[in-house]
Amino acid sequence: MSTVSPNNSTADSHYDVIIIGAGLSGLSSAVRLGMFGLKVLLLEKHYIVGGLNSFYAKGGRKFDVGLHALTNFPSPSSGKSSPLLKLCRQLRISLDSLALQEQTSSRITFGRTDLRFTNNFEFFISEIERVFPHEQKRFHRLLSKMENFPAYSVDAEELSTRKILSEELNDPLLAEMLLCPTCYYGSARKNDIDFPTFIMLFDAIFKQGLARPEQGIRALLDPLTSKLKELGVERKMNTPVQAIHTDTDKITNIELENGKYVTATHYISTCGGLETENLLQPSPHAKSFEIGRFSIIESISVFEGHPKSLGWDETVVFFNDSESFSYNEPKELVDLHSGVICIPNNYGPPILDMEKESKLRVTHPANYNLWSELDKETYLHKKKVWEERILENGLQYLPTSREKLAQFKSKTRMTDTFTPRTIKKFTSHENGALYGSPTKKRDGATPFKNLFLAGSDQGYVGIVGAMLGGIAVANNQILRNL
Ligand SMILES: Cc1cc2nc3c(=O)[nH]c(=O)nc-3n(C[C@H](O)[C@H](O)[C@H](O)COP(=O)(O)OP(=O)(O)OC[C@H]3O[C@@H](n4cnc5c(N)ncnc54)[C@H](O)[C@@H]3O)c2cc1C
Repeated sequence: MSTVSPNNSTADSHYDVIIIGAGLSGLSSAVRLGMFGLKVLLLEKHYIVGGLNSFYAKGGRKFDVGLHALTNFPSPSSGKSSPLLKLCRQLRISLDSLALQEQTSSRITFGRTDLRFTNNFEFFISEIERVFPHEQKRFHRLLSKMENFPAYSVDAEELSTRKILSEELNDPLLAEMLLCPTCYYGSARKNDIDFPTFIMLFDAIFKQGLARPEQGIRALLDPLTSKLKELGVERKMNTPVQAIHTDTDKITNIELENGKYVTATHYISTCGGLETENLLQPSPHAKSFEIGRFSIIESISVFEGHPKSLGWDETVVFFNDSESFSYNEPKELVDLHSGVICIPNNYGPPILDMEKESKLRVTHPANYNLWSELDKETYLHKKKVWEERILENGLQYLPTSREKLAQFKSKTRMTDTFTPRTIKKFTSHENGALYGSPTKKRDGATPFKNLFLAGSDQGYVGIVGAMLGGIAVANNQILRNL
């Protein structure tokens, strides 16, 4: 790697662009910039790419860290405007290579009320009309309002969705049921989601739909890393950025943890708004990004056989135990009132091979501070205790009989759990905040003219959002001005 001392840059030690973070936004920016012949350096703290959405192996089995769902399934009716097709075009990845498998059906369940959805949006509308017949007119008016709102514009007004839903709908239960999946799949705000993000996620989940690449997240990560190699993008793993040095209105160089310095004409940081501000030297007088507070715990059970053999044929279940939904940092280690269940084997046609193993993933809100202050022994103990509670609680929301439940338990081969501490470790997000800061900067601009933010704190969350955000910063802030 070309390195320099703080005040001494040479031609071959200088890059056109340095990108901090090899998560999905950083990888996408790097590929896009590399495609235009720019000299790019990608710096990643960890030994593995993917950030929040990576993969690992345990007990001889492969796991995706996240990947409940790849949103924005490109149905034939979405045509060329599909965000997923757009990102495949921009990165020259063939959609076919992802081997996308569609969801079977999913559900939002609150107390005794269920709303089911598939990748056919008309079906979701018919469900809302069936369960909330008295809301039919108002729901359609809400849909028109959403269509007319400039949600995808970089300066879209970040209104409160809770407030808008309470004005547009009469039945609070419908409002709560619409908030639950959209908050879980992308809100950094306490007990709410900003209206543009709500619209983007509503479109991504319900209008376009859910799918999963047959080979998991590696179907996206492998072509991205191969492209980096082909394009000559320099990638340095295990290389944390220690400080970003500034001079009035621009970045002068980056200091690495190993004491070396690197320079570039442009810099992109994908490690979060607040986390980027924390790296600035000298340190800014005031921080412009609020700290994120929402984190999660997820428990993954591996069991023998196909979920269908247990009577489970749904893909994702968003559940809440009452009629009102609280999306917040819990006061205890874990909040069991609401959560998300994902059964990844229920994407695509069922393969009822009884020897095959399947996974059940159950996610709940969790408190980062409480988990992080536990000593190692107590941490491992609490993880085990909560793993069992999470599973017992989650199973209530899946239709099955007592015998099938016993069958599931006897066929469970292993369980693995990650906590907010794991999220912090693999992303460096303050507080293990799943979706970063509630403050977002959609165009990625910062007070420094050669530093841009991409990824979670741009406000484009999720796998597709992070990748499109990375592409947008590369295109609009750098390539357009060459
Ligand atoms: C458990 C879980 C499940 C999820 N499930 C889904 C899902 O099913 N569908 C979906 O669409 N989205 C899902 N998401 C969200 C999605 O993964 C993220 O929105 C997206 O991956 C964010 O990408 P990013 O590039 O913005 O940030 P990150 O993935 O956070 O990448 C930032 C990178 O920067 C690196 N970094 C940080 N600090 C430094 C430093 N100082 N020096 C060098 N490198 C640094 C980090 O190590 C990391 O690799 C899930 C997230 C989690 C945690």
